[in-house]
Amino acid sequence: MASQTTMSPPVHLSLPADAPRPAAGCDVCAALAGQRSEAHRRGDHSAVSDWNVEIVAHRGRSRC
Ligand SMILES: [Zn+2]
Repeated sequence: MASQTTMSPPVHLSLPADAPRPAAGCDVCAALAGQRSEAHRRGDHSAVSDWNVEIVAHRGRSRC
């Protein structure tokens, strides 16, 4: 039997340990983190760091 390779990536890819965390229950954080995950899945590290900056800036403004 031939071995099969799965086409489905893991749902949650690990981000660097120092990546900013979205606040639980904050819709804006969830949206930003979702965009960051999408960029991470594409392998777009430049966009990932842009979203990290957005999350930090939003959390500083909103104190969420
Ligand atoms: Zn937030």
